[in-house]
Amino acid sequence: MIHSHHDIVIVGSGIAGLSTYLYLSETEAFKQREISVCLIAKSTLSTTNTDWAQGGIAAVHAIGDDFEKHIEDTMVAGVYLNDIGIVRKVVEAGPALLNDLIRWGTCFDKNAANDYDLAKEGGHSEARIWHAEDQTGHAIQSALMQHLSDSTNAKVLENILLVDAIKDSNGQFHLHLFNESENCFFEITTSKLVLATGGTGMLYSKTTNQHVATGDGIFIAEKLGASIENLSYIQFHPTGLFHDGNISFLVSEALRGAGAVLRNQQGEAFMDQYDERLDLAPRDIVSRAIHAEMRKHGDACVFLDTTHLSPAMMEQHFPAIKAQCKTLLNIDITKEIIPVVPVQHYSCGGIKVDAFGETRVPGLYAIGEVASTGLHGANRLASNSLLEAIAFAKFATEKLLDLPGAQQSVPVSFKKECYGIDRNQVQHLLSEHAGIIKNTRGLKTALSTLQDLKSNAPVVGFNPYDHTSGVLLEVAIMLIADALKQEKNRGVFYNEDLVNDLVP
Ligand SMILES: Cc1cc2nc3c(=O)[nH]c(=O)nc-3n(C[C@H](O)[C@H](O)[C@H](O)COP(=O)(O)OP(=O)(O)OC[C@H]3O[C@@H](n4cnc5c(N)ncnc54)[C@H](O)[C@@H]3O)c2cc1C
Repeated sequence: MIHSHHDIVIVGSGIAGLSTYLYLSETEAFKQREISVCLIAKSTLSTTNTDWAQGGIAAVHAIGDDFEKHIEDTMVAGVYLNDIGIVRKVVEAGPALLNDLIRWGTCFDKNAANDYDLAKEGGHSEARIWHAEDQTGHAIQSALMQHLSDSTNAKVLENILLVDAIKDSNGQFHLHLFNESENCFFEITTSKLVLATGGTGMLYSKTTNQHVATGDGIFIAEKLGASIENLSYIQFHPTGLFHDGNISFLVSEALRGAGAVLRNQQGEAFMDQYDERLDLAPRDIVSRAIHAEMRKHGDACVFLDTTHLSPAMMEQHFPAIKAQCKTLLNIDITKEIIPVVPVQHYSCGGIKVDAFGETRVPGLYAIGEVASTGLHGANRLASNSLLEAIAFAKFATEKLLDLPGAQQSVPVSFKKECYGIDRNQVQHLLSEHAGIIKNTRGLKTALSTLQDLKSNAPVVGFNPYDHTSGVLLEVAIMLIADALKQEKNRGVFYNEDLVNDLVP
């Protein structure tokens, strides 16, 4: 088995992993080759949720906007369960972080006055969303990837799956890795492990997430002793395109920002019955409103009406959405309404970290969607997640450089088999019982069924698909257990057997 050592290993090639790598590569210690860094991704480098982000990244820039407004909008969306210190730290860092993205080559759209063309999204009181058409994530992902390069003290490895990690008695992390193309395991040891493994979308039958979003970081961090919090704070995006398949194309709320209106199958605009902010209310409110309309009329979807918007504006700002609606459903969105349903979108909770991205396990970091930093509270404000990921990449850099002296690693051993689990069963149970509206009985049924699945699972030879299905099962059990612990309905979390708390 090949065995190598790097001072810092970053797992994940989305905005969190790549920007951690790039901030480290700009330090003197890196330039002087005093530290070695390795970045690993389980698929190709560009297969990330980051690459699919559409709407943009939030940061204060426009005249009339200020940090206090962005802080307040974030707190309102999060039902004031956010950590105000973290909210302030991230929001105030925003403009400098946007400069870093631009410095690394991201081209954000500009207006006729040659200033940045900022959009306004649900829950934001001002226009502060930096975007590149409706493919902002792709613009960021591509720019950051262009800056990666292998050198003697840095390695970038794709199609390598982190299967497991153990911390030995000398404080070294041993990473159990699987190289799919060569069908073999190998091991890397490291002093600092950064989990930037993204979300948990594959837990549900319908999600906007990429297939890599199987919650691996949560599973590994929990085994290493990190604390996991609020896993059941799942944000459902109100407007996933209603079409077949596990992965649902996202119809960005920037369209509602530009004037698109939600209508039920009777053609009525219904948001005025639910919230005075209408279609631009925070996502949890819009998702529950759509769910209620669908339940009231027994409908499988509602519609987003864009037919009154200027075709030229749609072509200029939403070319990808327009093209996908045409390809997937043969709909011309300048003339026809778009069928949409709420779908799993974002994990607001995750691995609990401090203000520098470190968990309670010394040397173990979590950055990006996998982490629970306190920024989002009980609900993420639109376009704050890309910001959070790059912010914590920067905050973590200095602490990551604080390396222990050379340590001998102590040999450890890993299992080489996995469970044979039907992932569809896990996805069906979560969608049925841990969706937008939950109840205690359903959650208990799901938990006991998942536990039975686990105890009766056959052991099979290792393969990445079965391994990650097993991870999904473990994370699903954690999520339901977390849901059953919740005592109040707050933000994205809603159990109809509980009372409501602070509704914004
Ligand atoms: C369709 C869509 C639209 C969105 N739009 C926006 C938006 O407009 N604005 C916004 O702020 N947010 C948006 N989001 C959310 C945002 O994109 C994500 O929260 C963010 O990109 C997550 O970045 P990340 O680096 O944490 O994870 P990701 O970008 O998902 O990257 C995860 C990485 O971890 C790797 N990985 C995972 N497990 C393993 C393992 N076991 N071994 C090795 N590698 C592993 C993956 O291969 C991948 O490289 C959107 C999300 C989606 C899905």
